[in-house]
Order: sequence, then C-alpha cells, then structure tokens
Amino acid sequence: MGFSIILPDGAQKNYDQAVTIGEVARSISTSLGKAALAGTVDGKLRPVDFEITHAAQVAIITDRDEAGLAVLRATVAFVLEAVAKQAYPQMRLGEHAADEEGFFVDTDKKNQIKISELPELEKAVQKAIKAGDRIEAVLMPKAELAELFKDDPFKLDLLDQEADEVQAYRLGDFVDFGFKALLPNTGKIKQFKLLSVAGAYWQGQSSNPMLQRITGTAFFKKADLDEDLKRRAEIKERDHRTIGRDLDLFFVDPKVGAGLPYWLPKGATIRRVVERYIIDKEVAAGYQHVNTPVLMNLDAYKTSGHWAHYRDDMFPPMDMGDGEMLELRPMNCPSHIQIYKHHIRSYRELPIRIAELGMMHRYEKSGALSGLQRVREMTLNDGHTFVTLEQVQKEFAKTLKLITDVYEDFDITDYYFRLSYRDPKNTEKYFANDEMWERSQSMLKKAMDDMGLDYVEAEGEAAFYGPKLDIQTKTALGADETMSTIQLDFMLPEQFDLSYVGQDGEDHRPVMIHRGIVGTMERFIAYLMEIYKGAFPTWLAPIQVEVIPVNLDAHSDYAKQVRDELNKQGFRAETDLRNEKLGYKIRETQTQKIPYTLVLGDKEMKTNSVNVRRYGTEEEVAKSLTEFSQEIAQDVQAYSRK
Ligand code: ATP
Ligand code: ZN
Repeated sequence: MGFSIILPDGAQKNYDQAVTIGEVARSISTSLGKAALAGTVDGKLRPVDFEITHAAQVAIITDRDEAGLAVLRATVAFVLEAVAKQAYPQMRLGEHAADEEGFFVDTDKKNQIKISELPELEKAVQKAIKAGDRIEAVLMPKAELAELFKDDPFKLDLLDQEADEVQAYRLGDFVDFGFKALLPNTGKIKQFKLLSVAGAYWQGQSSNPMLQRITGTAFFKKADLDEDLKRRAEIKERDHRTIGRDLDLFFVDPKVGAGLPYWLPKGATIRRVVERYIIDKEVAAGYQHVNTPVLMNLDAYKTSGHWAHYRDDMFPPMDMGDGEMLELRPMNCPSHIQIYKHHIRSYRELPIRIAELGMMHRYEKSGALSGLQRVREMTLNDGHTFVTLEQVQKEFAKTLKLITDVYEDFDITDYYFRLSYRDPKNTEKYFANDEMWERSQSMLKKAMDDMGLDYVEAEGEAAFYGPKLDIQTKTALGADETMSTIQLDFMLPEQFDLSYVGQDGEDHRPVMIHRGIVGTMERFIAYLMEIYKGAFPTWLAPIQVEVIPVNLDAHSDYAKQVRDELNKQGFRAETDLRNEKLGYKIRETQTQKIPYTLVLGDKEMKTNSVNVRRYGTEEEVAKSLTEFSQEIAQDVQAYSRK
C-alpha cells in the first residue's frame, strides 16, 4: 500500500503497512518510545496503539505536552470507573471528561456516592497503579458495545453520539468508551487526587435524574499536584458560596427554588448598607428613585421586543383567566418608560434620570446557576436616563465616572472594559435596524476613545436593543462576569413612541441610556465576599463590634451598656453572653471576621473604658468608650479607601 507520515519537524517516514503511534515513536528513538503517552494523527488525539494506515501528520505526545496531562487525567478517570464498578457492581456510569481543570466521572448507584467513600476509591486506584496492568485500546463495532451495555440507558445514550466503529478501552473485564486517548498502562499514572462529590443532572438538564459527580485531578509531578491543591484551597476560601455558608449570610435551596436566594440577617444587613449607599450616591448624582411593580401586562413586553428577542430568558406568562396575561419582568426598562411617559416632557428637563432597586426574574439555565452570582430572582441597581442626541456623550462619561467612583469606594481594582456589539448574523436575538446599530456602536466606541480608555470588543454580547459598555470582573473560580453596564438605546424610545417637546415646540425622540452601577445586589455582594474574603470593611460588616464580658456574672451588664451605647450611635454592635470560654469567644470573632472585639472586665468597668482588638491583630488597646466610638466613626466614614 505504501504511505508516508510527516512529523512536526517536517521529517517524513515511509511505511508499506499499518504502523502504530508507539512504533513510530520507537523508530525515532528508544527514549521517545518510552516517553510516548499518546499521539495526534492529523490533529486528532489517539492512543499509542492506534494504527496509522494512510498518509498523515503525526506528533508524539509525552508528559511535556499539555495534551499529555489530559491523557493522564482521562486515564485516572477511566481507572476510577473500573475500580468503582468493581466496588459497586450495580453502579451505573454517566458522562466523564478530562480537561485543564482535572477530570470527572458521573456515577449512579442506589445509595449515592458520598465524600466519605472517596478515600477507599483512591486506595483502589492506587492499587491498580501498583498492579501496572495494561489498558488495551480496542476498536469495537458500535453494535457490540450496544449489546454489552444493553441494560444501561446512560451508556446507550452516549453510544448514540459515536460513529460505527468506536474507540474503546479495556482494563481486565471493564470496558468503556468516549476517551480520545488513554495511557497504555495503569502504572504510568503518577500523582492524582479525588477532590469532591456533587450532584450533576444527567446531560445537564434538571428534568433528568441527578447523578453524583466525582471530580479529581492528576499531574506528572508531585510538586505540581501540591501547588494545584493549594490553589484550590485558596479558591475555596475565597469562593462566596463557602463564605456565605461560614458567615451565615445567605442560602439557596433547590428544594424550595433553584436560583432563588434567601438572605439571612447578616447578609441582608450588608445588602441594606449597599442599597442605602447606592441610592444616596445616585440621588446626589441627579437620579430620581422610583418603585415599580415586578409584574406587568405581557403586551408591554411585546411592544418592547422582549417577547420576540428575550423570551427564552423569561418566566412563562401567567394567564389570569380573564384575558389578562401578566409577566414577571426580566428587565426594568419598560417600567421606567411608563414613568417617563406619564408626563409630557420638555427638553428643559433632560437628562431625566430614573433609578430603582428593581427586582426582576430571569429563567437562567439550572446548570448556569451559582450561589448569588447567577440567580433567577435578582434586584438590579437599575437606571434609565432619557437624553437628547447631543447629551449622549456627556451623560455616558458622567455615568462611567459614577461607576469608577463607586468602585473606588469599594476598593474594586481588578476589572476591564468590554464594548459589546451585536452579532449581525443573529437576527433572532437582535433588533433588525442596521443603521441604528452602526450609529450607536460607533458612538459608544468614540466616547471610549475620546476618554482614552482601553477596552476589548466582543461581538454578540450586546443587549437585543443596543450595544453596551460592560465592566467585567472575575469570580474566585476565574470566570468572567459582567458587573456594571452602560447601554445605548435608540430602539425602545422608538418602540414606545417616546418624545419630548424641543425648543422648537416640536416633538423629538429621546435616546435612552440603560445602566447598572453596582449591577445586581446578588452578584455584587457575592463579588464583595470574594474580594474581601469575608473580612468586610467596617462600613459594610454585618457585625461591626462584638462585645465580650470577661465574666458573665460580673461584667454582662456593663457589656450590654456598651453595646446599647454603640447601637445608639448607629454602630452594629452585639454582645456574646453565651456560657462559653472567653478564649473560644475571642477566636470566634476572628473566624467570623468581625472588625472590632471589645473585651470588658473589672478594669474597663471601673474606668468606663474598653479593651479593643482589631480583626487580624493580636494587639489589645485600652481606650475610653468615647475614644473608641470616634475611632470606629472615622473608620466607617473612610469606606474602604486606603
Ligand atoms: P449576563 O451576560 O451576565 O447574563 P446580561 O448581559 O444578561 O448578563 P444585563 O441585562 O446587562 O445582563 O443585566 C444587568 C446586570 O445584571 C449585569 O451587569 C449583571 O451584574 C446582573 N445580572 C445579570 N444576570 C444575572 C443573574 N442571573 N444573576 C445575578 N446577576 C445578574
Ligand atoms: Zn434597561
């Protein structure tokens, strides 16, 4: 037959019969033969036993290649499946994957896998590594696999996506498929760790059964594994879901509603401080705050275009039975438009800035929901400014300045600007009006260029009615999220026939600027939890001062008196009067990250003073109560500004 393969350095090798990737590696050098973990054939990842039968570009994968890591991780996933199946013969297996974050294996058994079972499974994998058994890569006809898995609907579903001939792997009696390449031998696995167990819906759909996903990771070197485990621990410490649980700030319980968060007293306190802050800031910047209903007649959303372009994200309408259809709002724009339209507007009034902490509902996919970061019920720090065409640029700059001022108050520094344009090909998502899109997109770009600000541009991220400037931040898990946004809109004023009376006495069309400064309370406060690692600056801390009596009998009254005095002055102080040891109580103020702890004993009581310890320090400072309230007052006023 005769064919040749080309190696990455351009070298050519000729063969007159089938050759495996492993043989190609060995023919290059003995050491490469040993180091070969897998290969790519015309760019596709394949196991070392894969037979090449015709001309192709071939590369050998070793532990120096990124793909080598993926092969290693996939192999651990496969071996984990094999040992789990041995431990629990009735267990069914769902999806599995390996990538730059590690690997996972979905499992399903009667009493679902628990985290406490991981050490046993880890041991079993270790044993398999020691045994160093061969993992055989075999090409099998689909029908044969279908017969093998005939009682397993999950596997049969997965098999559907495969071609007629399936790359399968065998370890002893265990067979599985869906891996691009695996190591040829369990003994080649080096460092691995099973990390967690969590529910995962079959194929990511909440209407499907829930399986248990085991996640893990693997590396070639121990130092790399150790570093990765350290990084994961840090992320976990910063993850707002961990902080929310440890500090008792909020919870979400899928049993009472996925994506519908409950704000506990302390979380609600932080939220209240942020809400008051932002309302005051906006009122000072010329906004008029309003309150409008979360329910609206569906017709309004038909007029706005939400029904045509945004329906997938909306909760289904409620049929009230008398011909009225009500819709839970996914955005507040149509509501603020009603406020604008309620009066005849004159050019003298513009810009008109209407703002609200507007609650809205979006039917986010269940797989996308995450703590407070992505929810289905949210309250947006929303605002809509109605301006003349000439006022657009100035108002845009003013809004952006408001955002960056607010970021400074919260000490937010890690963000970047993204100009979000429409995808001209996606006519379903975006209003069809080329001229308006061109015009608004170039206005936005010009405004940014005039201010000399850097930005990235992203097609297909615009709102359906217009382009946006998005301010992007990163979550603890490294995902990019939009926090704040400013959007230019020529469409909705048109749809709702908005007007103002110009200097010429004629009706003119205003332009709308949609904007969210701190975004939704949910996403913003999740973000704050992460950047502060739960140690909120004093002005935001749910409990600012914990007052602890040295002796419950002798000093409780004085502790209460100090607390009441501080509360009267507007600080959030609490007393800890539980029957616990002093040391324990003090330690708890540290784990709860309370900015100030006051320990009060005889000396303090006699001199009307307090013994102050700041969060994160060991130092205790004696002060009069007056001095202390001055200190905390200053601290609160300074916000987080350094
Ligand atoms: P995303 O791309 O994140 O879904 P979006 O582009 O749909 O957001 P906008 O309509 O611009 O978002 O919403 C305004 C703000 O609301 C966003 O900047 C973001 O802070 C916040 N937000 C959007 N969706 C959610 C959600 N599901 N949970 C929490 N906050 C959200
Ligand atoms: Zn809007």
